[in-house]
Amino acid sequence: MGRKKLKALYIRRLVQLIVLAGIILIPFYSQNPYQWSPSRIVLGHLPPPRVLPVSGDTWAISFGNFTLIHPLAFVDYIVSTKSIYLPLIGAVVIPLVLTLLLGRIFCSWLCPMGFIFELNQKINNLMGRIGLRWSFRIRDYRFVFFTILLIAAFFFAIPALSVFDPPHILAREFMFIFTHHQVSLTGTLFILIFLLIEAFSVKRLWCNRLCPSGGGLSLLGAKRVLNIRMDKELCIKCGKCDDACPYDLKPMMLSEDREIDWLKCDNCGLCRDVCPVSAISYHLGMRKRIEK
Ligand code: SF4
Ligand code: SF4
Repeated sequence: MGRKKLKALYIRRLVQLIVLAGIILIPFYSQNPYQWSPSRIVLGHLPPPRVLPVSGDTWAISFGNFTLIHPLAFVDYIVSTKSIYLPLIGAVVIPLVLTLLLGRIFCSWLCPMGFIFELNQKINNLMGRIGLRWSFRIRDYRFVFFTILLIAAFFFAIPALSVFDPPHILAREFMFIFTHHQVSLTGTLFILIFLLIEAFSVKRLWCNRLCPSGGGLSLLGAKRVLNIRMDKELCIKCGKCDDACPYDLKPMMLSEDREIDWLKCDNCGLCRDVCPVSAISYHLGMRKRIEK
């Protein structure tokens, strides 16, 4: 029997909760909504100063003078403006290196919408059990949408990727609520529609098949060094890892020397967590190609 390990899920949930709390609390405290009102501005009162030295969200965040930006925000900016603002290079280095080395962990470990979609998957499971789930087959359009948005950003000079980045959409909604006391119909409808579809139909539809940001991050992390690894000697072929994988990647295939769709695997670690004999673990190092 393999050694029992700390579940990645516990750490992942903690990180996801901190990020979600951040995108709610940052606009709440930085704009100080209780002292802000349009009528006061009209009367000549300026909005109160920021309470927090932190601003931004998962797309770009500043701690005082220290800024980090999402790798795709950097790409979006360059493609839409056809220029490079030099300070942004420093801001993207850490997130870019992390993505290149660790893959699209942004999706599984940081994205607050991914977190909400994960919780929503439990409703999908329940609907499946009581026969209220209607599933349909749909191809993976993530790379297609990613390419279309980059083309749109180039030709129309708009940050098209940011418009369809779900965590940025969610953060924008909180910003609207706390600064303008309103919700945007497009952003709210987008989120609600996908929550409903995923509850009653295809599980994790957005992350699995449609998310352009997920597609872009998959490409950036294609040669990552953090991967899951299977110890074939330990595997008892119980199939629990296949059931746990949110993208139906069937990690049990690794025990038969068959590849999974590594571009889609986001290192969530759910397969590792459920394995009763700890046959799956995280591994740092280049992935070995499986000989046919
Ligand atoms: S959960 Fe573990 S033992 Fe079961 S099939 Fe997957 S790797 Fe093998
Ligand atoms: S294969 Fe494992 S780590 Fe990869 S997405 Fe599926 S459950 Fe997560």
